[in-house]
Amino acid sequence: MPVLSRAKLRAAALTDPGCVRTNNEDAYALLAEQGLFVVCDGMGGGAAGEVASRMAVDAIVEHLGDAPEDATSAGGPEGVGYRPKTRRLAQAIQLSNERLYAEARLNPQHTGMGTTVVAAWIDGDTVCVAHVGDSRAYLWRPGRLEAITSDHSVVEAQVQAGLIAREESLQSRNQNLLLRALGPEPAVEADLNEVPLSPGDYLLLCSDGLTTMVPEPLILQIVERGGSPQHICDALIAEARSHGGADNITVVVVEVVRSPWDRVLGLLR
Ligand code: CA
Repeated sequence: MPVLSRAKLRAAALTDPGCVRTNNEDAYALLAEQGLFVVCDGMGGGAAGEVASRMAVDAIVEHLGDAPEDATSAGGPEGVGYRPKTRRLAQAIQLSNERLYAEARLNPQHTGMGTTVVAAWIDGDTVCVAHVGDSRAYLWRPGRLEAITSDHSVVEAQVQAGLIAREESLQSRNQNLLLRALGPEPAVEADLNEVPLSPGDYLLLCSDGLTTMVPEPLILQIVERGGSPQHICDALIAEARSHGGADNITVVVVEVVRSPWDRVLGLLR
C-alpha cells in the first residue's frame, strides 16, 4: 500500500474485503502530493458496487485535475461561501453523481448502483471536506477524536431526533439504510465542511466497515498510540477484522507532521 509524503503530510491507505465478503466494493484515492484523499463505498448487485465506487473515485480525481484553479470561474451553485477547493470538491461530487446516474440508466447490469463518498482536500492549514452517505472523516487531536462529517443515514437521523442513543445505533437493523448516495438521483447535495489543521493532527477517512465494527473510543485509542499512518491503517483494519469484519474496510490516515520547530513551540506553550 502506498506511503507517500510531501512537505508537511504523511499519508497511507489500506482496504480489506473483511472476513465475510469475497469482493471489495470500497475504493479510495490517495494523492499526497495534491493533499487529496477520497474513500467511496459502493452498492448494487453483481459487480455494480465495485464499478460505482471506482467510477466515483476516478471521476472526482479527474475533475479536480482538470478543473480551473479558481472554482468561482467554473460556475455552478455548489458551495457558495466556501473556499475554492471546497467548491471544487462539491462540483466534482456532482459531476461524479451525473456519471453514475447516466451509467445506471444506460447499462441494465448497473441498475441500482450507487456509492458513498468522503473526500478531503488540504488547503494550507485547513482541510476541506465533502461527503455523501455514511463514509466518514474524523480529526484526531490528543485525547479527542472528532467526527467532521455526519452520516446521511436513517440511524444517524434517529440519533439526531433523540429516538435512539448513539450507543444503540451500532446494534440497529437500519445500519445500511442511507438517506443520500451518489447514483440513484440525477442530482445530489454533498455536505461541506472546512476545519483548521495543526501540526500533530491526524485525519482519518473510512468506510462503515470500520465504524460499524470498531467503537469510536477504540478508534481513538488506536490513533492515540500513534506511529506512522501505515501502522495506524494496519492496526485499524486488524481491529475491524477481529470484531468480525462483516463488511469491506477502508481507511486513509493523514498525519500533519510536526516540524522540530513545532515541537519546540509546543514545549514552550
Ligand atoms: Ca460498507
